[in-house]
Amino acid sequence: MLLADPSDVLADELFYATVEECEDCRTVLLDCAAQDARAVKKLVDWALWITSEVHGGLPDVLVDQDAPKDSFSPSVTFRRLAQGYRTGQTNSAQHNVRGPEQRREVADDAVTLVAGLDRYGADFLYW
Ligand SMILES: [Zn+2]
Repeated sequence: MLLADPSDVLADELFYATVEECEDCRTVLLDCAAQDARAVKKLVDWALWITSEVHGGLPDVLVDQDAPKDSFSPSVTFRRLAQGYRTGQTNSAQHNVRGPEQRREVADDAVTLVAGLDRYGADFLYW
């Protein structure tokens, strides 16, 4: 799959650390992302855009709070952002991720999602 370049060093490094399953690098980079609201928004928008392209819209499993937790199961915060993306609410004010903990969480979800799609394709969400 041809992935769009997030053209952001942090997002880029985090993506490759996730693909390579390097937990040491992931920990360091996620800690950085936790302090960087702009990078996190970029990562989340990137992940949701790619997923939409792959699936022809965002699958319910990413949006519904009570979707079955079969394989990839993003945080409640990520699901809220996915819901916003689906309804076209992607500006920063509505992005609304509070504090380093939530930023770290959604950055992790976003990059795990893209790395999974990269490796396994659309099936990644439905194992
Ligand atoms: Zn590493």
